[in-house]
Amino acid sequence: MRIDLHAHSTASDGTDTPEELVARAAAQGIDVLAITDHDTAAGWHAAEAAKPAGLTIVPGVEMSCVHYDEDGKRTSLHLLAYFVDAEDEALHAEWARLRESRLHRGEAIVDKLVAAGYPVSWQQVTELADGGSVGRPHIGRALVDSGVVPDVNAAFRELLNSRAGFYIRKADTDVFDALRLVRHAGGLPVFAHPIARRRGPIVSDDVIAAMTQAGLVGIEVDHPDHDADDRAHAAALARDLGLIPTGSSDYHGSNKTTDLGACTTSNESWERLIALPAARSPMR
Ligand code: AMP
Ligand code: ZN
Ligand code: FE
Ligand code: FE
Repeated sequence: MRIDLHAHSTASDGTDTPEELVARAAAQGIDVLAITDHDTAAGWHAAEAAKPAGLTIVPGVEMSCVHYDEDGKRTSLHLLAYFVDAEDEALHAEWARLRESRLHRGEAIVDKLVAAGYPVSWQQVTELADGGSVGRPHIGRALVDSGVVPDVNAAFRELLNSRAGFYIRKADTDVFDALRLVRHAGGLPVFAHPIARRRGPIVSDDVIAAMTQAGLVGIEVDHPDHDADDRAHAAALARDLGLIPTGSSDYHGSNKTTDLGACTTSNESWERLIALPAARSPMR
């Protein structure tokens, strides 16, 4: 089976609608696809309604989280919440707060770019996001449309990455609060791209152990932002901590060069995941 447990649609910063996403998955011979937009479950319904025969859809949400160590050092990190009850009041409120924070922060980044003379506008960005969770890829796309950079990747490399002068933080959820919220809402939390160093600082193995104590069930091992050493390290961590190792493309349509199924999850990990009790079931 080909199992891809992390993909974005136009409900956040992907470029395929949920309908296009599930059609593409089926066309590429994928058997199981998770739709995991940033801080929203808005794409689930359309994905399920358009589900081609033979494709299994996993409802998921990728939550933007933050961890502060004892020295106050801040690390941002992403949790995938699978099979979670999207109607859970506390979680629903937290996602709404995160999306609101994305709006203010997106506008503030655009303000900085405009102040530096770049020909982009907030209106351009909100039109591109079209009601979905706003993210830096939308700003990147606006920079492409305005002819500032040739592609979204260049926009990140030159202007939008977390080490660049235009970067502004979002008001993300403390990762231990997020784990509690997700578990309370019957979800299965998996740590997305835990060792993606090129995005910014990463948390230590001790933090991942503490997250496991707090209800984490898996970690992404095979991910496009992990090199061979990162994957070996994540696989060893999964073994040591009893976490389910997963693999995923983190597909974003034409906002990234990675295609669906670029990294996949083993049948064994999939069986372990769906054996755990959760609020929702796979959409078969
Ligand atoms: P944000 O959620 O607004 O902080 O933006 C982060 C998103 O940008 C993540 O979903 C990443 O997948 C995406 N991203 C990070 N680096 C790049 C890149 N070099 N090219 C395209 N997308 C990227
Ligand atoms: Zn994204
Ligand atoms: Fe992510
Ligand atoms: Fe993602």
